[in-house]
Amino acid sequence: MNNKRPIKGTSVYTFEDMVESLKQAISTFPDKRTGKNTRYKMQDAACGAFSVFFTQCPSFLSHQQLLQQRYGFSNSRTLFRMNDIPSDNHIRDLLDPVAPSSLDSVFEACFDALKQSGHLDSFRVQLGERKNDLLIALDGTEYYSSETHHCRNCSIRIRDGQTRFCHGMVTPTIVAPGMNKVISCPPEFITPQDGDSKQDCELKAAKRYLKKQGKKYIDNATFLGDDLYAHEPWCKQVLKKECNFIFVCKPDSHKTLYEWIKDVTVEKIEDRFDGKNHQIYTYNYIENVPLRDGKDALHVNFVEVTVKDRKTGKQLYHNAFITNHPLAEETIKIIIDCGRARWKIENENNNTLKTKGYHLEHNFGHGKKYLASLLATMNLLAFLFHTMLEFMNKKYKLLRTVLGARKRFFNDIRTLLIYFPFKSFDTLMDFMIEGLQKPHDLETLQVPI
Ligand SMILES: [Zn+2]
Repeated sequence: MNNKRPIKGTSVYTFEDMVESLKQAISTFPDKRTGKNTRYKMQDAACGAFSVFFTQCPSFLSHQQLLQQRYGFSNSRTLFRMNDIPSDNHIRDLLDPVAPSSLDSVFEACFDALKQSGHLDSFRVQLGERKNDLLIALDGTEYYSSETHHCRNCSIRIRDGQTRFCHGMVTPTIVAPGMNKVISCPPEFITPQDGDSKQDCELKAAKRYLKKQGKKYIDNATFLGDDLYAHEPWCKQVLKKECNFIFVCKPDSHKTLYEWIKDVTVEKIEDRFDGKNHQIYTYNYIENVPLRDGKDALHVNFVEVTVKDRKTGKQLYHNAFITNHPLAEETIKIIIDCGRARWKIENENNNTLKTKGYHLEHNFGHGKKYLASLLATMNLLAFLFHTMLEFMNKKYKLLRTVLGARKRFFNDIRTLLIYFPFKSFDTLMDFMIEGLQKPHDLETLQVPI
């Protein structure tokens, strides 16, 4: 892997560094074309597709063609380093044979940059005597669904006699209690596997993800997941990798464990003030209980929490988790806070990707081989680049804060990139900041008194 890595000691990873990292990855994409049919380079096709996700503008490329004709240069050239602008169909054809894992190095370069700059440390949590754990939440999400179009990588769902073809993926995401940002890691796709006669599923995909991970990316990791992950073979695999877990544990799917813990848990009651209201937290916990029936069952630690409003007595939250982390009176609170941070993968990651401008579920292209999964990966990467910019680019961060809603920020970016060609990403940021500070017609503005 020859992808650019941040140099030790440098704290800024720029937009240009990210695009360069993307270009390096694209240079490894397979291109089986021969002869005359090679006018458009793979770089143009892949950067073109990515630019649509980054700008959140489906018509970005057609507008850049107009800018190119009018001014002799365009944002597709200056920002995304494209030489030519292929048609949408051309882009889809060229990208279909490219496996989404070809982009893993770009995710890794971002992770390394966050580590080098110290930003990753703001995600680390102290769990008891263990220090600096990173919480990696796992969750499955669908990004394509059709009743008619399908490919060899589709999963098949039959409900009420109706067949549906769909694509799903597990999106490992670094989260932390109290952090409003999340860090996307390369997804693992839920897709039929060679040599496996049964359908693929979320848990199988999670196992493949874990198997591939080098120590560097899961060092001191605690995995978070819903009840599906509180499953013995998976928990054992996590432990084998010297990682930890905090998984939701529901009574319906863990009858033996709930029988075992009846009337034997330790209770701890805590009054917490959230700045507005007092809440009563009741914890019930116990160590070393069997996860399932049978003498050879894996033993885990169990903690249950109920949150009630002190004034009204109304129940605000209830959940239960299993973990391999030791439970003690002083660590219960942080274990629960970490377990609860799991919802961030649904809210801050998958929900943002579906409803906040990324349109993850929109059919950008299905293809015959990898197209749908490659485009979904590019969409995730665009989200990661935006997060990186919030960490690394002071001007970007300022604009995101001043403009408030994500929607407004991207609307402004979209409009500007359609009408004006900018020399660089920095010029675009400067233009927006200047516009906010000084209206262009301020000197001639007539304000009635
Ligand atoms: Zn398919």
